[in-house]
Amino acid sequence: MAARFGTVSDSILDAVGGTPLLEIEGVYAKIEFLNPSGSIKARIAKYMIERAEQEGLLKPGDTIVEATSGNTGNALSMVAAVKGYRMLVVMPEGLSSERVAISRAYGADVLFCGNFHVNEALVRAQRLGQQPGYFCPGQFESEWNVEENRLLLGPEILAQLPPGRVPDALVLGVGTGGTLIGVGQAFREVNPNVRLFAMEPSESCTILCGEIAAHTIEGISDGFVPGIFQRHATLVNDVLSVSSADAVREMKRLARSYGLFCGPSSGAHLLAAKRVRENFPELKTVVTAFCDEGEKYLHEYFMQPAAVDVGATHFR
Ligand code: PMP
Repeated sequence: MAARFGTVSDSILDAVGGTPLLEIEGVYAKIEFLNPSGSIKARIAKYMIERAEQEGLLKPGDTIVEATSGNTGNALSMVAAVKGYRMLVVMPEGLSSERVAISRAYGADVLFCGNFHVNEALVRAQRLGQQPGYFCPGQFESEWNVEENRLLLGPEILAQLPPGRVPDALVLGVGTGGTLIGVGQAFREVNPNVRLFAMEPSESCTILCGEIAAHTIEGISDGFVPGIFQRHATLVNDVLSVSSADAVREMKRLARSYGLFCGPSSGAHLLAAKRVRENFPELKTVVTAFCDEGEKYLHEYFMQPAAVDVGATHFR
C-alpha cells in the first residue's frame, strides 16, 4: 500500500492508493475519490505511464495523448505534470465542465471530439498517438489497466476486509472495465466462486442490449463495449442496470447522510451493490467502489439550494 501518511515524500504520486474501505448499508465501498486528481483513475494513470517508461515507449519531451470521458484525462494530466510530459486530453463535449477545467489546471491541452460518448475521441487519440513523439496509453484496451487493478487495487481491498472475510461479489460500472476485471481476477484467487456484476445505465444498455443513448452516470457506458471487457467477458457473471435519476439521487444522499461527496457512478454502485445483497442473501461480502469526487459535478447538480430537496424542515 502507498505511504500515504507518516512519511515525507517528494511526489504526490506516492499518495496514489491506500484509500479507506468503508462498510455502508451492508456493503463494502473502496473510497477511491480520495486519490490525487480526485478519482480511481490516478491508479491506472500512474501505472500505465510508469510501465510505458520502463518499456521505452515514453521518453522525456514526449506528449501523452488519451481519449477519456474525463477522469483518466484529469489523472494523466496530473501524472504528466509531475513527470514533465506534455498532455493532450481528447474528450467529448457535454460532460461536466469541471473535468475540462481540472485537466487544464494541471497544464494539459484539451481537444474536443464528439458529444458525450467517447467513440470519436478514441479514434482521434489513437491516430495522434501513432505520430513520433506521442504516446497513447489506450486505457480501453490496455492490459496494463487490468494489471494495476489485479496487482494493486484488488490486493489492497483484500488486505482491508475484516479478518476471515473473502469477497462473495464485486459490483462495478464499466468504463474501460479495467477495475471490474482486474479486481475480479484478484478476488478469484481467494474465492474462485466470487460473482462479478457489471453495472450499466438503464438508459444506455450497451453491454446487454447494444443500445447507445444519453445518460448521466458520467465515466461509465462511454458508447461502446471496451476491448478489455470483450476480452474478459467470460469472467463476468451478470449485468445490472441502474437509472441515471436513481444514481444522481443516491449520489446526493451519500453526501448528506455520510459526508461522502462523490459522483453519480458512486450512487449507482451503491444501489447496485445493495440490490445484489438483497437478491442474493448468500452473498454476504459485497464489494464496490466510490470512484470520483462530487466537486467535479458542482455546476451540474449542486449550485441550487437543496433545502426543499433534502426535507430539512428547520430551514423552511
Ligand atoms: N466511475 C467513474 C466516475 C469513472 O470515471 C470510471 C472510469 N471512467 C468508472 C466508474 C469505471 O471504471 P473502469 O474504467 O475501470 O471501468
